[in-house]
Amino acid sequence: MSYIAISSGHFGPGTGARDIIDEVTEARKVVDRVSYLLRNAGITVHKIVDNQSKTQSQNLNYLIAQHNAKKRDLDVSIHFNASGKRTDLPIGTEVLYRSDSMRAFAAKVSQSIAAASGLKNRGAKKRAELAFLRGTNKPAILIEVCFVNSTEDVRIYRAKFNDICEAIAKECVEFVAPNLSKGKIDLEQIEKAVQNTLPSIQQNASKTIFTSPALKERLKAILNDQKMIEAIVQKGINERAIHMNWAAKLQTGTLTSADLLGLSALIVEHQIKSMKK
Ligand SMILES: [Zn+2]
Repeated sequence: MSYIAISSGHFGPGTGARDIIDEVTEARKVVDRVSYLLRNAGITVHKIVDNQSKTQSQNLNYLIAQHNAKKRDLDVSIHFNASGKRTDLPIGTEVLYRSDSMRAFAAKVSQSIAAASGLKNRGAKKRAELAFLRGTNKPAILIEVCFVNSTEDVRIYRAKFNDICEAIAKECVEFVAPNLSKGKIDLEQIEKAVQNTLPSIQQNASKTIFTSPALKERLKAILNDQKMIEAIVQKGINERAIHMNWAAKLQTGTLTSADLLGLSALIVEHQIKSMKK
């Protein structure tokens, strides 16, 4: 199981940067959406929002204490930036880090947000003095999504809100649970898919799947065996039972467990049909 603590910066609307948009209001929206996406990906999320502080120093102490009290593999803080006067020029997104070991990850998150949205990529910035980065005691990043005083940044942010949140969530999942994001998902995903979208194959069978715990365990073992998954997909491609694109999906980490079961059925079906010929 993987864990992430995520908070929005500052302590109430109006206490952060404010121009075309309000930093705190928007940071809370991003935290909500990213938390939702992380939970969907199977991550345990501790969402932290400060509704009690009266000053910025109380707020920093509160956020740091809340983060440090949680079981987590990664601390994420969501902010929006400001650079003075309002401008029509794009400024962009950046991700702050303190420990050098977090530099590459910070750069990857910034790059990913930029690629998903069209925001300019300002990249990773080392900010050793920031209280949040200094005070939290797990790997940490602070994301400055974009600049509240840039009309272009705000336009992109509004248009690409969900893409930005998905990019953040995807990178965080990759960081805390690289195997999960490679498609080796859990069986719950399959059970949900069966219950919600697939027909029952027998009249007397309930759609709730796995009538045999032993079968479920065997399947679990296969889904956790990356070599076997690769071998199954390769076999399907070699036998022309499935399209080559599935290998690319596996490589990019977008093949799901439900996909793999579907592909397995196609491979067996193909074998049976070619034997009949
Ligand atoms: Zn801020």
